[in-house]
Amino acid sequence: MGTIAENIAQIRANMAQAARQAGREETQILLCAASKMNDAARVREAIAGGVDCCGENRVQELVEKRALGAYEGRPLHFIGHLQTNKVKFVVGVVDLIESVDREELLACVDRQARKLGIVQDILLEVNIGLEQSKSGFTAEQVPQIADRIAEFPNVRLRGLMAIPPVSEHPGGNRRYFAEMRNLFVDISAKKGDNRNVDILSMGMSDDYTDAILEGSTMVRIGTAIFGKRNYNV
Ligand SMILES: *Cc1c(COP(=O)(O)O)cnc(C)c1O
Repeated sequence: MGTIAENIAQIRANMAQAARQAGREETQILLCAASKMNDAARVREAIAGGVDCCGENRVQELVEKRALGAYEGRPLHFIGHLQTNKVKFVVGVVDLIESVDREELLACVDRQARKLGIVQDILLEVNIGLEQSKSGFTAEQVPQIADRIAEFPNVRLRGLMAIPPVSEHPGGNRRYFAEMRNLFVDISAKKGDNRNVDILSMGMSDDYTDAILEGSTMVRIGTAIFGKRNYNV
C-alpha cells in the first residue's frame, strides 16, 4: 500500500473504471472514508487526499476526533450501531446517520431532532443477507417503514445502506447489491414531505467496484485507504 493520498487516487481510478463499465458518471458516486481507529491527523490526510465525506462507527471516537477538528471541510456520517442513549451525541452533529437499523432508533432520532428543532437526514440500514450477527431492517420491512416515514417528521429519508455478508469469492455479493438496488428504486419512486431518496450506500474495500456496477451511489472505504486496522492496540 502507498500513502493515504496514493491509496485514494488508486481507489478513485477503480471507481471511475467501474462507473464507466456501468455506463454511469463517476461524479455520481461518493467516496466516504470509514475512519474508525484512525486518528484525527490521518482523517485530515484522507480529506486532503480528496474523500467526499467521513464515516465513524463509535460515538465516543467521533466526539473526540471531532473536537480535534478531524472532519473539518467535509460532511460527517455516523455509520455504526447506535444505542438510543447515545442518540443525543449524534443527532444534529452529523450530516447523515446511515445506520438507522430499527424502528426504536428511528423514533428516538426523530424525537431528539424535534427537541433540537431540526430535520435529521438518515438512511435505513438493511440486513440484506439476513444475518443473525447484523442489525438492520429486512428487505421486506423496508417498503413498509418507508411508507410510514411521514410519522417521523423530524427525519428526512435519504436512502438505504447495507453491509452484505463477507463474500467467499470475488463477485459473491453482487446479488445482494442488486437486491438493494431494486429496493432503492422502489422507495425512490414515492414522494413525500420528508423523503428525498437519492443515496444508496454500499460497497467496502473488498467489493466496492461490484457495488458500483450494481448502482451504489456511495462507497464506504476503510482498509483500502488507511491500511489494516490494528485491533490489538
Ligand atoms: C469499517 C466499515 C467500513 C469499511 O470497511 P473496510 O472493509 O475496511 O473498507 C464500511 N462500512 C462500515 C459500516 C464499517 O463499519
